[in-house]
Amino acid sequence: MLRVEGVRKSFGDHLVLDGIDLHVERGEVVCLIGASGSGKSTLLRCVDLLELTDDGDIHLGDLELTDPAIDENAARSRIAMVFQSFNLFPHLTVMQNLTIGPRRVKGVAKSRAQSRALELLTRVGLESKAHAFPDSLSGGQQQRVALVRAVAMDPELLLLDEVTSALDPLLVGEVLDVVRELKNEGRTIVMATHEMSFARECADRIVFLADGRIVESGPPEQLFTAPRDPRTRAFLERHM
Ligand code: ADP
Ligand code: MG
Repeated sequence: MLRVEGVRKSFGDHLVLDGIDLHVERGEVVCLIGASGSGKSTLLRCVDLLELTDDGDIHLGDLELTDPAIDENAARSRIAMVFQSFNLFPHLTVMQNLTIGPRRVKGVAKSRAQSRALELLTRVGLESKAHAFPDSLSGGQQQRVALVRAVAMDPELLLLDEVTSALDPLLVGEVLDVVRELKNEGRTIVMATHEMSFARECADRIVFLADGRIVESGPPEQLFTAPRDPRTRAFLERHM
């Protein structure tokens, strides 16, 4: 479903992605791990069209995301990204946060968008917060809303960038529970994370980046118990 081939990206003379090749199958959950600065966010941002690549191709199904003539809105309606910071619209209620995308981008009728939003909120235990504003919610609740807001767009691909990194440790679990549920319903997810035990349990494949390159990738059991590259080993010793 997602094919990243030979992607390079520099900021000024700093080469941040140095030839990334990554294929993701439909329904697969891929966790990107690696030290801070290794290029995880930049890779996700290139897929989400938030950064232009300097070289290489990215395809989502039949759509070439790196085509300079791409219809960005059409592409954006097929991909959803959730960030570390809870970036809900602060002046909109939870319900409005969940319905604005489907209504504006996909032309879904208001009543349909609202019933779908309530269904999604119920699944993450937040139906009582439908008419609350984001700042009255805990960080974990806001991030659960951000995840279902992404899902409300019915994206083919979900990109999650350190969605638990800004949370109080007590609230991490409730957000990871939602990610686990999204996996169980068959969603295709590429997720940068520092939550190694979650990655080990939930990912179909782990991709370890260092200095803008994929050093090693494989199923969690292999990568965590028998890493091949000394840099992977050193990273895991520091983070497990
Ligand atoms: P990670 O998410 O793995 O921590 P990033 O992709 O955020 O890594 O960053 C990789 C490198 O690119 C870092 O050295 C970072 O400082 C640099 N970088 C990221 N975004 C920009 C930007 N907009 N301008 C300049 N440098 C950037
Ligand atoms: Mg990052």
